[in-house]
Amino acid sequence: MSFRLFDAPLREPSQFVGFAGNTIDRQSENRADDSVDKALADPATRLLLMHGGRLYLKLGDDGALDPWFGATESEPFKVSLAQGILLGFSERGPVLAVPAGVEPERLPETVKAIDYRSVYMQGLIDEAAAGAMAQGAALLAWHASHRFCSKCGTESQMRAGGYKRHCPNCGTEHFPRTDPVAIMLTATREKCLLGRGRHFAPGMYSALAGFIEPGETIEAAVRRETLEEAGIRLGRVVYHASQPWPFPYSLMIGCFGEPLNDDIQADLNELEDCRWFFRDEVRLMLERTHKDNLVTPPKGAIAHHLIRAWVDSE
Ligand SMILES: [Zn+2]
Repeated sequence: MSFRLFDAPLREPSQFVGFAGNTIDRQSENRADDSVDKALADPATRLLLMHGGRLYLKLGDDGALDPWFGATESEPFKVSLAQGILLGFSERGPVLAVPAGVEPERLPETVKAIDYRSVYMQGLIDEAAAGAMAQGAALLAWHASHRFCSKCGTESQMRAGGYKRHCPNCGTEHFPRTDPVAIMLTATREKCLLGRGRHFAPGMYSALAGFIEPGETIEAAVRRETLEEAGIRLGRVVYHASQPWPFPYSLMIGCFGEPLNDDIQADLNELEDCRWFFRDEVRLMLERTHKDNLVTPPKGAIAHHLIRAWVDSE
């Protein structure tokens, strides 16, 4: 009998999703309360500057956008270095994410503040920088919404280079959270189930998704969400790939589900439409050649990869 445990592709599907290109060495075992100060003393340190869900980008003469700032270079942008987070280390030195305080309309001509989603969707920075942006964006968002101890209400303090908050009153330690979201493509050999959320771009259909709840396995969440949103009961569920999703700090967990019934009962509070699509139609949606201009999500999205993997599975 062969050893089946690692019967998985050598090229992990998760390598190909957006935000997966993070090359930072986090060195999590070495994080200390003076990590940020030490990093800032290193002239090789590079900073990502973030403000209100936007990343600052330097506009070069050639039109290229550069997200990396030196510590001195960042000074005019009202940066809060004390609120900076040590993301880890690149080959060139330490990497920090730092909140900045200049409103987009007050920035010089040579610096743009662009929202994370556009930076990612438009591929404005390389994969490694996009991964670092996702890491920094998630952590800064968590700190911004967890300033006070949830046990006693006292203002807590950032520790461990930004990977912890400590309450000086009751001593509780608070750690950054990641919210797991199940995203699943229900499919048979012939057809797959796609839905349209009310906020989707025109013509776009995607895999169904929902938050995994406390006390639930990934598989149970996939089955529950599919039943609730589409009225489809699932048999087998298999994991395919995951994607960091910094809106504000989720992890998308992509799965395939095997349907046990055919009759869709869409939850129209959640979805505008939900229906079966045959393989040839989905291929046209991936290629952006569908006659009704129906499309799948863009390439960086994990839903795109689930759909692509299913279309190519035959
Ligand atoms: Zn407390």
